[in-house]
Amino acid sequence: MKTVHGACPHDCPDTCAWQVSVDDDDRAVALSGTPEHPFTRGALCAKLKHYPERVYSSERILHPLKRVGAKGEGRFERISWDEALALVVGKLQDAIARHGPLAAMPCNFAGTIGMLHRYAGEQFFSHLGATEVDRQICGNVAFDAVTATIGVGTTLLPEDLEHSRYILIWGTNTAATNVHLWGGPIRAARRAGARVVVIDPVRTPTAAHADWHLQIAPGTDAALALGLMHVIVRDALHDTDYVARHTLGFDALCERIGDYPPERVAAITGIAADDIERLAREYATTRPAALRLLVGMERYSNGGANVRAVACLPALVGAWRERGGGLCQFTNDLFHAALDWRVVMPPADAPSAARTVHLAQLGRALTDETMAPPISWMLVYNLNPVVTLPDQNRIIAGLEREDLFTVVHEQFMTDTARYADVVLPATTQFEHWELMPSWGQTYLALNPPAIAPRGEAVSNTELFRRLSRALGFTAPELLSEDEDRIRALLASGSPLLEGITFEHLLEHGWARLALPDDFRPRANGGFTTPSGKVEFESATLAARGLDALPGYVPIAEDADTARTWPLRLMSAKVAQFLNSEYANLPLRGAMRDGPLVQLHPADAAARGIEPGDAVRLFNERGAVEAHARVSEDTAPGVAYLPFGWWMGSTLNGSSANALTPDGLSDHGFGSNAFDARVEVTRLAAPA
Ligand code: SF4
Repeated sequence: MKTVHGACPHDCPDTCAWQVSVDDDDRAVALSGTPEHPFTRGALCAKLKHYPERVYSSERILHPLKRVGAKGEGRFERISWDEALALVVGKLQDAIARHGPLAAMPCNFAGTIGMLHRYAGEQFFSHLGATEVDRQICGNVAFDAVTATIGVGTTLLPEDLEHSRYILIWGTNTAATNVHLWGGPIRAARRAGARVVVIDPVRTPTAAHADWHLQIAPGTDAALALGLMHVIVRDALHDTDYVARHTLGFDALCERIGDYPPERVAAITGIAADDIERLAREYATTRPAALRLLVGMERYSNGGANVRAVACLPALVGAWRERGGGLCQFTNDLFHAALDWRVVMPPADAPSAARTVHLAQLGRALTDETMAPPISWMLVYNLNPVVTLPDQNRIIAGLEREDLFTVVHEQFMTDTARYADVVLPATTQFEHWELMPSWGQTYLALNPPAIAPRGEAVSNTELFRRLSRALGFTAPELLSEDEDRIRALLASGSPLLEGITFEHLLEHGWARLALPDDFRPRANGGFTTPSGKVEFESATLAARGLDALPGYVPIAEDADTARTWPLRLMSAKVAQFLNSEYANLPLRGAMRDGPLVQLHPADAAARGIEPGDAVRLFNERGAVEAHARVSEDTAPGVAYLPFGWWMGSTLNGSSANALTPDGLSDHGFGSNAFDARVEVTRLAAPA
């Protein structure tokens, strides 16, 4: 028996360190969290306890497969790797001969957030000159809006929430989707007397366990932030010294927030004026005060404006001064600074792609008959777009095109793989090398393979090496081995990697970036905006044609749309499917019943819907049929349908993204999926 240190691959802020027990027959017999890891402390979330089940599942794809049925039918036959490569590369060469390299396109995102597998195809597709994919679908709008306000750079470490005494969790379900932050630093802060307040349209598990939950109308976060600033400045609760020395545009901000008295904000947000007053007072007068934001409020056509307004709050009250104060968002940029990204990305002087398709608009690109050249060859990896991207039915219509050759590199027969022409078997995190950065904490982790690849599965990196060789590409970066890549990523010379070597990581599994213990980079200003200050007024945003000041703009939709589709659809993540990869495995407990459509009692009563009724949720894009849950957990006017379920889990074989639009946010990228509106009706009981 041996123990191999590794880390969870999922797109989750926690990036848990784990240890795999492997027996003498090279079988992984147990998985547990690494107890010594200071952030994840030996606990894996509920779904990861079943990861070995996933690795050894009889449903795993272990050999290359070729389609023998109609697209989507899911009928395949086994072929050899040689046959598969000949077919895949032959079709790629055909597509390029007929239409040029733009006819080829990758389709990938964050199925693993590791440095090797997430970015495995970047250099290959750049070398090919293929259509590029704009993957700014999650987190980038929030990041952009925060950057415009306070500049780039991690400012409040998640682990430092332990020092906070007022924690405002805004639009993120921490207890379910960021479990180690909730169970670690936030729990410690509460034990020391911190108050936790949650702002969310849904009474999530986080909201249910908070000291105070404010149920906000979806997409009105900017109005609430402006209302809070109104009260803070009106009552002279702002930090005049910090504002004078470290912010820009305070006078213009004051003029703007004058338009947002609590009574007006109450009418917009659905939160009582008294509660707005109280929240503003508590936030401004309790120190240290932290804001915890992730991506919940960004996925609207006004998503950038929402995040921008909220991001102004910490500077107004001088929250940046204290350890545990400020705005806690992502930690990616620390890893960007630490690692040598040239190892995985195209060379800086590589020509940029002549065409880009936004992931949020995949269905549009695949079905656009005027697109020249058409996408004729597509390689899907690290992604199940039919389930996870907006406008499901349009994506399916695109995948059904007979003139599109689709290759899917996967571990399981996903809803997308069913439409593939060739399916190639992919390894799991137990079977390959990986270097794991984190977007929600500060520890780097190394994941060596614990067991040999099952069947004929190959890693993403090996797939691109095989494709490169088959195409006769000889550039060394396309053919380099995984261990060499990891050593090169670590050889950046960044002070953040001081003392962190490949050998150290191999022995211990993880290491904290070399950050100071008392990390308060903005206590005395020094923001990385063009002015070096917090920009309440931003010339950069104005130059992009956006509002220079924080402002509230209602979600972009006309009155007819709101009348026809009276309910706002929310389709947020839930703990079990934080990552959709688990939706095909045996479900436990209440999950066995499939996703539930959650409605407020008033909305349910108006439609004659009782708890447990089969209902049809629909709009102009599609319909999802499922059972109803009726509860005040959901705000009036909202229909809540969890995200991540595969199509087979509902009554009619469609899932949440059948209803979501494929527009972009106000900041010019990101998805407006949460703009979706729907109607719901009770389905007649079967005769
Ligand atoms: S999904 Fe997140 S919480 Fe669960 S084991 Fe992986 S990193 Fe940890």
